[in-house]
Amino acid sequence: MGEMSMDKSSCPCSQPVRAKGLGPMVVGLIKRYADAGVTTPSILYVNRDCCGASHIQKMFAAWPQLKIKLDMWHFMRRIAVGCNTDSHQLYATFMNRLSQCIFQYDQDDLKSLKDAKRKELEAKLMGPLDVDVMRNITRSELALHCRRTTRGTEETQALITELINGFDGEKGRDSLGVPLINSCRMEDIWRTQIKHVACLQDPEGVQLNIQTGIKGGLPLPTYRCARSSTSLECFHLHLN
Ligand SMILES: [Zn+2]
Repeated sequence: MGEMSMDKSSCPCSQPVRAKGLGPMVVGLIKRYADAGVTTPSILYVNRDCCGASHIQKMFAAWPQLKIKLDMWHFMRRIAVGCNTDSHQLYATFMNRLSQCIFQYDQDDLKSLKDAKRKELEAKLMGPLDVDVMRNITRSELALHCRRTTRGTEETQALITELINGFDGEKGRDSLGVPLINSCRMEDIWRTQIKHVACLQDPEGVQLNIQTGIKGGLPLPTYRCARSSTSLECFHLHLN
């Protein structure tokens, strides 16, 4: 595991940081880490100022190894603003596909999960087909047993462009004829956001997935990802 996720007992900052007066807060935080004598975080997830002439980078000059990354949920929310309404019939599908443009499942983990699910089904069904196996794998089983990694900047940029084009105009209308995407607004958003795809990428050499043991109905390792913005043990900085 990299240095970003720390044991709660040794971590001087076990909660996400939300502050308006960032300067003094960061100074205090750096001092707390130094006083505690623990390894400093290697990744910082932010909801803005991820790249360019970032003040954040300057504020954390004492931690030169720190990599500043954009929180993927904030990135997705920015793209979602290009949709007319989140109550549109196609909204959930669009957002789900957007997540798939950014992340991919580890293929070995996925194969192990399918094999385990097939064995489970064989107790109830005669010769389950691939389609039965996939249909019976739940979203939470995927999250628990399959590690996810980012796809790389170029691939994700191409996939999101394709996704937006696929849902734009006529193709994105619901049964009442309402389009999912506001074309002009989305074009504007994507033009400014495409550069931040690089800021979403998992840093090389940092293991974001922690194996948490074997539990649940399937005899497989379980993982927790430190990338998740809901994890209290991650170091997140939310700027107001
Ligand atoms: Zn950025």
